[in-house]
Amino acid sequence: MARLFMPGPTDVHPDVLAAQNQPLIGHRGQDFEALFARLQPKLRQVFFTHSRVYISTSSGTGLQEAAIRNGVARKVLCAVNGSFSQRWYEVAVANGKEAVPLEVEWGKAVKPEMIAEALQAGGFDAITVVHNETSTGVVSPIKDIAARLHDRYPDVTILVDAVSSLGGDRIDFDAWGLDVLLTSSQKCLAVPPGLSFAAVSDRVLAKAKTIPARGLYFDFVDLEKYLVKNQTPATPAISLMWALDAALDRILAEGLEARFTRHARMADRVRSWAQQKFDLFAEAGYRSQTVTCVTNTRAVDVKALNGFLKSRGMQISDGYGALKGKTFRIAHMGEIQLKDVEELLALIDEFIA
Ligand SMILES: *Cc1c(COP(=O)(O)O)cnc(C)c1O
Repeated sequence: MARLFMPGPTDVHPDVLAAQNQPLIGHRGQDFEALFARLQPKLRQVFFTHSRVYISTSSGTGLQEAAIRNGVARKVLCAVNGSFSQRWYEVAVANGKEAVPLEVEWGKAVKPEMIAEALQAGGFDAITVVHNETSTGVVSPIKDIAARLHDRYPDVTILVDAVSSLGGDRIDFDAWGLDVLLTSSQKCLAVPPGLSFAAVSDRVLAKAKTIPARGLYFDFVDLEKYLVKNQTPATPAISLMWALDAALDRILAEGLEARFTRHARMADRVRSWAQQKFDLFAEAGYRSQTVTCVTNTRAVDVKALNGFLKSRGMQISDGYGALKGKTFRIAHMGEIQLKDVEELLALIDEFIA
């Protein structure tokens, strides 16, 4: 039974948890190289790419930093439509890049025309966009944004955060022509926290080589040097990589299409329930497949609701940051099944009755 209806960490299957429980191996030996080599094709399937997927021993925020350091030469446009996209803008500023926020009303998606208009100011060589804004339950049309950029601004690097959607919703790295696509282990992939992953295009790797201060831990050029040897520059979280191996097997055994359909069905169910009992925070047409942000129209005490749910072994998330109390969030990602969602909604109904 699923318990954690929160957008990370999500429930981890017992087989995946158990896969970590093995004697350690050295990270400069053949056993590790075999593990790394086995993970690459599976990760590439999940990212829909023939390109490399780096494995980082850090949470996703580390790869937000990596994307900025390796993917931005001078000036970056950061689309901001919620807390996690705001964080990415702050990461750009903290790394000394000239960063311009494109402020979009929270609850609304970032649209191609907004990006195209903002880029007219000139001088930008990269953009950051969050695919699935976890704080508002909004999904932005990355495919259309990328198409517009390829058409009008072909030299602008496209950096995408899909931390709360990759593995639960389709994001086609190669076909959409993205440059960096990053995610964390502990959300839709249903692996314990501590790893993150980034698909990286050839063109951004070539660009990185021209950017002087890339830092050390997250340097793509260095990660690439080791990736071709099936290694990582520093000691990776080996135990988590065993968990990842087992989780990817589960994901591919379910099938990516079936997995996306399962997530879409759960999202539909939660949305229609929320529209009956509350309201939805995200604008129509751009609602997340993996997390629903519910407008708290009944002024329910979310802390008390969560206390009640916890006594029944379940948990949801309060609104994030400024949206705390005004909204609450139900994640339907990773290992969660429709029947778990039904159980949760019945309990919330009981609480508000
Ligand atoms: C959770 C989340 C992050 C932060 O990821 P960490 O793995 O906690 O560093 C970034 N972006 C989005 C969209 C998220 O949902």
